[in-house]
Amino acid sequence: MNFDYLLVRLGELTLKGRNRGKFESLMLGKIKQALTAYPELQYECSYGRVYIKLNGADGERALARLTDVFGIWTISPVLKVKHDLEEIRHAALAVLHAHLPVPSTFKMSVKRAWKDFPHDSMEMNRLVGAHVLRNTPALRVDVREPDVELRLDIQQQGVFVYCTVVPGAGGFPLGMNGKAMLMLSGGIDSPVAGWTAMRKGLEIEAVHFHSYPFTSQQATDKVVALAQRLAYYGGRIKLHLVPFTELQTLLAQQKQDHLIITLMRRSMLRIAERLAERSGALAIVTGDSLGQVASQTLGSMNVIGRAAELPLLRPLVMMDKLEIIRISERIGTYETSILPFEDCCTLFVPKSPATNPNLRVVEGIENALGEQLERLVGEAVAGTETLVMTPEGQEERKLAASAEDRWF
Ligand code: ATP
Ligand code: MG
Repeated sequence: MNFDYLLVRLGELTLKGRNRGKFESLMLGKIKQALTAYPELQYECSYGRVYIKLNGADGERALARLTDVFGIWTISPVLKVKHDLEEIRHAALAVLHAHLPVPSTFKMSVKRAWKDFPHDSMEMNRLVGAHVLRNTPALRVDVREPDVELRLDIQQQGVFVYCTVVPGAGGFPLGMNGKAMLMLSGGIDSPVAGWTAMRKGLEIEAVHFHSYPFTSQQATDKVVALAQRLAYYGGRIKLHLVPFTELQTLLAQQKQDHLIITLMRRSMLRIAERLAERSGALAIVTGDSLGQVASQTLGSMNVIGRAAELPLLRPLVMMDKLEIIRISERIGTYETSILPFEDCCTLFVPKSPATNPNLRVVEGIENALGEQLERLVGEAVAGTETLVMTPEGQEERKLAASAEDRWF
């Protein structure tokens, strides 16, 4: 059966009454942007909802694309009919019979937002429910745990009939909460951190540190591919590639093996901060997750974090690895992240990295390097190459994998 509309319910901010108008028009823009491949669509926005008339477009694919747009709470494929009981009954039956798997129980759920409709919701419940039961052998009513909830939404512009509610990504429309600089390695965590930040309405730029020729071109290509995938969600993302070889070599020469990761991370942060300031980003996002490796103990995060003045956002800090992996699979970064190319940090991993580095010792080493360190930081910033990633060529996730359960 062909549905003729998509009903999109907008998320978090609809709760804040005064901002609603701004939020709705921002969301409408994001939705249209995501669906530019379907010029035949028509849009109407009202009370925290967007009604999209399909006009023959592939509703299933358009819906799959929308599940990746931040700020959307849920999406339903719907049939729209006139305020006419027979038409409503007909549509209800069609919607129910199209549902897979075939339900053995159902319940009616009627919302009458337009009060001039002649029957109230209790009556409609009965009038339509009885018709459905008469025409569907072996179907029973179960008001507690129905296989299917058949919904009628009676609005002034018509009646929407549907039974599927697909979860959206939630969050805020992209860019609504400002901009942040994402530290993007080739691993599993940082792309997920980037997606999580974008979901919260942050526009991101990404920065990656490479130690070419110690690290290969393939390692950088992998990060480019990850940034490209993030651009599918973020629209357009700048990726800053920072040459880190000289700094890394200088730090390695200090013969403080157990502190090298701490020292490297602090220098990375200083560079990320300069780039952030240049592009108006007000925070730095990392993929740190508490206790995962030596550099992510509380002691390490403390000493590393002190190198930055901007707020450090660590969206994954309290998540388990399995949760992080699950998100990375769903957003389509996992397969790339597990490619086996070395990162500039794996290259220099010491046998026993400090889990509780001493801030005074670390600062002492940096102070001794003084201007030399400062100069190399400046040179790394100056030598940074910036690529602009666009979403072209990126596929929406298969709906089958995402329709059933919620993100979290
Ligand atoms: P990831 O899976 O994101 O690589 P990880 O578990 O491997 O994380 P680390 O390698 O300790 O952890 O890195 C912690 C965080 O530091 C990363 O999530 C990322 O934000 C940042 N980071 C590490 N290496 C780089 C790099 N080469 N370029 C940019 N950021 C980096
Ligand atoms: Mg890593």
